[in-house]
Amino acid sequence: MNLVKCPDCSKEVSKNAQKCPHCGAKLKMGGFSKTIIVIFGICVAIVLIASVNILNKPSHIREADTNKAICDMNIGKSPVFTKEICEYNYQRDLNKR
Ligand SMILES: [Zn+2]
Repeated sequence: MNLVKCPDCSKEVSKNAQKCPHCGAKLKMGGFSKTIIVIFGICVAIVLIASVNILNKPSHIREADTNKAICDMNIGKSPVFTKEICEYNYQRDLNKR
């Protein structure tokens, strides 16, 4: 039998129980699915914060960030892309209006 800890009284309860037999707390969600929901919530929050930050940036800075990310990914793959060149292009793109 799978046992989980009751969130209210911390006693062991069957995973399939709807209610804690010790304190009567509702146990509809097991600890596992609660963790998943919390992780999912954090992911959604991160994506939301990230997209707000991206949307708040002026378009030329967004473009510079994208170009820098692409350049950084290619460092070492080709002699055309070095850290210095990526940084130089990034600064150039930032100052471009
Ligand atoms: Zn309980």
